[in-house]
Amino acid sequence: MSAGGITDHDSVAYSLIANQDPSCDEDFQVRTRMSRSSLAPPTLNTFAGRLRGSQRLAFLGVLTVFLLVIIWLLSNMDTYSTSPAANGLQNGKVSKYLSSSSKIYENGVDSTVERLSLKSDGSLRPSDLRTNVILQYDWYHQNCYKDLQGEMLTRSIQDIYTKLQLLRESEAEDCRLIWNIFDSMFRIEAIKAPIVLPKPFQKEVKGWLDNDEKLFEQVNHQVVFKIVSKGTFEETVFNPLRAKRPVSKPSMDPLEYIKNLTESSAPNCDFCKYKDHTAADTFGRIDNDYSASCSNTFKLAKFHGLFFPKEHHPLNLSLVQLRSLFLYTSKQWFQKAFETDPSQKYPSLMWDALPHAGASQVHPHIHGVLDAYQYVGGFESWHQVSIQYFKKFQRSFWSDFVQLHVALGLSISHGEAIALVPIVARKDHEFMILSTKLNEDVVSLIYNVMQAYLHKLGVYCFSSGAVYPKLGYTNADGDTGMPVIFRIGSRGTCTSVGSDVSSLELYTINNINSDLAKTYNGLVEQVNSEEAKN
Ligand SMILES: [Zn+2]
Ligand SMILES: [Zn+2]
Repeated sequence: MSAGGITDHDSVAYSLIANQDPSCDEDFQVRTRMSRSSLAPPTLNTFAGRLRGSQRLAFLGVLTVFLLVIIWLLSNMDTYSTSPAANGLQNGKVSKYLSSSSKIYENGVDSTVERLSLKSDGSLRPSDLRTNVILQYDWYHQNCYKDLQGEMLTRSIQDIYTKLQLLRESEAEDCRLIWNIFDSMFRIEAIKAPIVLPKPFQKEVKGWLDNDEKLFEQVNHQVVFKIVSKGTFEETVFNPLRAKRPVSKPSMDPLEYIKNLTESSAPNCDFCKYKDHTAADTFGRIDNDYSASCSNTFKLAKFHGLFFPKEHHPLNLSLVQLRSLFLYTSKQWFQKAFETDPSQKYPSLMWDALPHAGASQVHPHIHGVLDAYQYVGGFESWHQVSIQYFKKFQRSFWSDFVQLHVALGLSISHGEAIALVPIVARKDHEFMILSTKLNEDVVSLIYNVMQAYLHKLGVYCFSSGAVYPKLGYTNADGDTGMPVIFRIGSRGTCTSVGSDVSSLELYTINNINSDLAKTYNGLVEQVNSEEAKN
């Protein structure tokens, strides 16, 4: 049995979403009624009636065996063999538990919403966020996933699926609450995706997998996990097998590439000579010790600023420089712009590192825009969802979103801020940092994520987007905006000519090919090594 794999045929079988409760299917009921009332019984009776004593007994015996086989076949039809946990779930109890709990996740976006029993959490505004959670992952691990005692449930997507299943079926109210939260926000499917490989092609596929027989075996038992946001219909699709494909070495050492690029771009860098070579805003510039602002020359908003450190290297940002960038320059710029025009209330930020990620200049620069009516697109969808959620349940969407990730083991908290490995990621190795306020804790987490990218996860070019709380709102405002939210994800191999953006990202599916557990471990290891230093 391979670690975390979907390999063994003889381990655990559990049902998929396709195994829907047939009683919900009206056509099915009609069909069943028809066949019960008219067809089957008379035929059977007439035929059996013609047989004599011993013949009848033999016939009934054969019939019974036949029916048992049919029942067995039906019960196995929509199941697949899998081993959700790293160490396998071979112990009988678990295997029985999982195979008996079929029909877990229903199709249909609204099918489960009305069943919710989410009570008000005392939140006063949609933008409220509680990061100092009371129940930590350890509690959920011991109380909600206890059916897997002694076994290790990882943070990989197939185990996240199992955890959700256990949360839903738990007898403990606090466990079921997490399921209800999940169910009110998302829908998950585990989709069996069988395949047929002709002989010559098998050899080719084996080659792609470094001739790893165990991996190759999994090709025949692929399971796709799909998570859809009920509010935005945005979908994130995982195929754990894709994350396990051997990584081919980039033709050029990315660190060498970045070093050369940094050196060659420095002499003609506009940001290094910003006073003469960048535009200023009508209200002037923000200029601090380690960072400054300019206006974007070709704007996308009335106020469209750039915040940059006074250091040319795209990735070597120190904690001091990041603090200056976010806590001083960006904050002061938004405030200045807002004072210049108080109708401009919604602050959003964008940041790409290196050309492969779409950065126009090597020198690090963060875009800041203000809008009178809404946050930038992707974030505004979440904003609207959080308002609807608050209206419906008198609960904070953001607090619940955080608590869900805590319960699944996908959170790393730091003071008043918290980093999540979101189950609804857009890019590989994505992190989402949340905090009520823009403060030191947020910056520290951004710093640690960037360091984890560099030293633990091998991510050198990234894209990120963020929002800050709405400017100048009062509690009387119907809309209080959002907490601080910072999303950042990998842009793949920096030196690659091939694009990591396709029809998927632009118009259709968010496909995640990195392992959530690996992403999580990368940040944890980074935070620990940082703490060991201090
Ligand atoms: Zn520069
Ligand atoms: Zn740019």
